[in-house]
Amino acid sequence: MQLDGTPPPHHAPGGEPGAGGRPHLLMCAPDHFDVQYVINPWMEGNIGRPDIARARAQWEALRAALARHAEVVVCPPAPGLPDMVFTANAGLVLNRRVILSAFAHPQRQPEEVHFAEWFRAHGFEVILPPEPYRFEGCGDAVFDTHRQLLWLGYGQRSSLEAHPFIAETMQIETVSLRLVDPRYYHLDVALCALPGGDVMYHPPAFDSPSLAEIERRVAPERRIPVSAGDAQAFACNAVALGEALVLHPISDGLRARLRERGHVTEEVDLSEFHRAGGSAFCLSLRLDHTHRPAAGAAEGLSAQAGRVIDLQGHLLNTGLMARVLDVITDNGGSFDILEFRAGQRPEDQSRARLRVTAPRPSQLEAIIEQIHARGGDADGVEQGGARLVAASKDGVAPADFHVTTIYPTEVLVDGQWVTAERQRMDAAIVVERPKGEPPRARCTLMRDVRRGDLVVCGFDGVRVKTPSASGHHDEFAFMSSGVSSERRVEIEVEKIAWEMRRIRERGGRTVVVAGPVVIHTGGGPHLAALIRAGHVQALLGGNAVAVHDMEQAVLGTSLGVDLRSGAVIEGGHRHHLRVINAIREHGSIAAAVRAGFIRGGVMHACVECGVPFVLAGSIRDDGPLPETVMDLVEAQRQYAEALRGADMVLMLSSMLHAIGVGNMTPSGVRLICVDINPAVVTKLADRGSLDAAGVVTDVGLFLAHLTAKLGITTAPEAPLLAG
Ligand code: NAD
Repeated sequence: MQLDGTPPPHHAPGGEPGAGGRPHLLMCAPDHFDVQYVINPWMEGNIGRPDIARARAQWEALRAALARHAEVVVCPPAPGLPDMVFTANAGLVLNRRVILSAFAHPQRQPEEVHFAEWFRAHGFEVILPPEPYRFEGCGDAVFDTHRQLLWLGYGQRSSLEAHPFIAETMQIETVSLRLVDPRYYHLDVALCALPGGDVMYHPPAFDSPSLAEIERRVAPERRIPVSAGDAQAFACNAVALGEALVLHPISDGLRARLRERGHVTEEVDLSEFHRAGGSAFCLSLRLDHTHRPAAGAAEGLSAQAGRVIDLQGHLLNTGLMARVLDVITDNGGSFDILEFRAGQRPEDQSRARLRVTAPRPSQLEAIIEQIHARGGDADGVEQGGARLVAASKDGVAPADFHVTTIYPTEVLVDGQWVTAERQRMDAAIVVERPKGEPPRARCTLMRDVRRGDLVVCGFDGVRVKTPSASGHHDEFAFMSSGVSSERRVEIEVEKIAWEMRRIRERGGRTVVVAGPVVIHTGGGPHLAALIRAGHVQALLGGNAVAVHDMEQAVLGTSLGVDLRSGAVIEGGHRHHLRVINAIREHGSIAAAVRAGFIRGGVMHACVECGVPFVLAGSIRDDGPLPETVMDLVEAQRQYAEALRGADMVLMLSSMLHAIGVGNMTPSGVRLICVDINPAVVTKLADRGSLDAAGVVTDVGLFLAHLTAKLGITTAPEAPLLAG
């Protein structure tokens, strides 16, 4: 054993196993060890605190423990570099080649030259990681001898983008794991791959896709989850040498579990080094790991996926830029800002081009989808044509079919960008290539996909035209502010009235979606007045809105409550059943109106004014009314038909029907959602588009304000028939 950095005489250059095939480890004496700065949470409060003499003794004890199983080589420490003792961070060594570290923190960067010098002097091929990315050696690269792969950490120190380079350079499969807790700032403090295939790890250190990846690759009986107590005693920072596991003392429970699995612990107190955030594994570097380079192409060694996107709009003053960057990192991705042109004045737009990287294609898709949902104009610029896959069965799309949003979507087919027709969310895109004509694309519900249809899959060759983020978002602020004051409701209603008047003047279409609460709150006469004044081009609802409207028209009650006096009428809870029965006898609502049975209210206005209505059925419906469509696929079709060409959709207190309508409505259609529950309004109106607005208020009051602002006098209620 030599302590001066000279390899032992039998030690072959490059650190091959020495005599008897013993492993080789690199250590660095703690001559200059201390805590002099804070670059991880363990260092906090520990500046100048380590007992240096004790640290030296602990290090010697570790070296002795390791030397029982391995050849230990020691490289010379450098003054002023207190963390150089943690040689695991020197680089990643495999097959006598080393990818040198490029440290994230400037405090550790000067270590790089010392380690590079040592590796070169000892015959290793030294490779630098790709600029400008960070990589902290075996701190974030754990070699799994059993699976012949590298577990790679990112999210705290090393860059995700460096991973494919590592995979290609070392010709080894890599699995990227995101670290989410700054205390577990390196992978080697949260995961240890043991010989024979066991993996010891601390689950809370990882995000859920990373945990899923660990679970996918490591069978349940081979997983050794480590508690917070043991993880904080650096149990995962263990050096595995055959059966021996050299580490800081651990709990009896973990020791017993490890023993059960055939691992014999050798526990060495390393508490002085814990003040700097390191333990046994950090204090040593394996030099002799070899692996069989993966056969075939470098492709597939890393699952990483990337895409370049463009963002445009008021990126800074709407906070969109920050939101997009958060979406990327919160979902386990990373970004390079390739270009950023900031608007110079409040009215100027900004432009950014980003490369988004994710550890797996599924995560990239989730990120791109969320950027769209937040209003980012995420045009892919590095892409070929759309990937088209033929459907193998009627009513079933290919597994990774592109799921549409509310935003206009274009697909690149045969070199042309084609806009998908009938834009709606949650659909597939079917492409047709008629002979001698340009290709066509259409949003198609999965149930309508036919065998052999060419369906767009993934995000390649797809661009989604989200509106440029605009500086005007008072509606959003209004909507998310919770319960609105009466005055604010009035102001908002005034704006809606103005828009409705303009839509009517230009012969546009306003579609109303209404729930029975409209009737219960006394809004019925107002809605009927809007219909008569030509402000409603179609009415969508369920059985209940029509039932209670006609109950009111016939008996003066809604759900048995007298709407004029507010009194509960004896036996009134059965009123609506009698009305349904009578309408069924007439054969239809229209027939009941024509027969004079229904003389007022919303349904009466629809029939008289020729305004089409669609009543979609539900499991709780009484009756139902003859017009209620109990076949839901057919009801969805009729809703979609009624919504075609709508300029505005007024969604009045029906969560069920409003959600259905929201899914069918493309962006560009003005959506106004009125509900007393702020959570419902947020859900319905928060589509990341400025077309949506919400009003949190009583719907009866809303309708009264609306007719007033439109200057419509609500007709006195129709004379009632005797009950
Ligand atoms: P829903 O739960 O989908 O929506 C009701 C909404 O009204 C809720 O979001 C609630 O927050 C809101 N709301 C309550 N009070 C309000 C107020 N004063 N002002 C504004 N918003 C208010 O329920 P739904 O649309 O009533 O019914 C769901 C389905 O059940 C429909 O298909 C309906 O036809 C059916 N239904 C049938 C019958 C019947 O046949 N007798 C009766 C009730 C409901």
